[in-house]
Amino acid sequence: MGKALDLFEKEEFYKCLQCAICTGSCPVARVVEGFNPREIILRYILYGEEDEVLGMKEIWNCATCHACQERCPHNITISGLLTHIQNLAAKKGNLPDTMKAAMTLMAETGWSIQATPRSDRVRTELGLAPLKRPDTAEIRKIFKEAGLDEILDLK
Ligand code: SF4
Ligand code: SF4
Repeated sequence: MGKALDLFEKEEFYKCLQCAICTGSCPVARVVEGFNPREIILRYILYGEEDEVLGMKEIWNCATCHACQERCPHNITISGLLTHIQNLAAKKGNLPDTMKAAMTLMAETGWSIQATPRSDRVRTELGLAPLKRPDTAEIRKIFKEAGLDEILDLK
């Protein structure tokens, strides 16, 4: 059985009724064709299609809003499992370029979205202090501990 399940009570997922309330509650599934949390659980856990699921680009559509988990009649940790699946997928090289770019920027600047001169101008106009540059050494340390330095090929 999957490595992801080591973090959870394995029996928890066997309680899944395949009722699809999770998918029906998911705001992303409503707008992104092909994203179906119930199907991911079914394939990853019940069918044992771990490698296939870890290679799916759809797993990155999860916004970690927890709506599925909140409404599951068996309180199954669906969004927790999806996050862990994303972590395993990233280690296998399945990480979207947009996410890679945001994390690289975070390692280099401390921000996931670049602050611009306009941001500083607007802050001044609003009487706010200039943005402080975060400590990137600390961020890089966390990235290294998480194995992200290899995935991102940081300088
Ligand atoms: S809502 Fe819960 S029980 Fe129903 S399909 Fe989703 S995970 Fe399974
Ligand atoms: S946590 Fe992910 S799968 Fe669950 S409802 Fe939110 S977006 Fe959908």
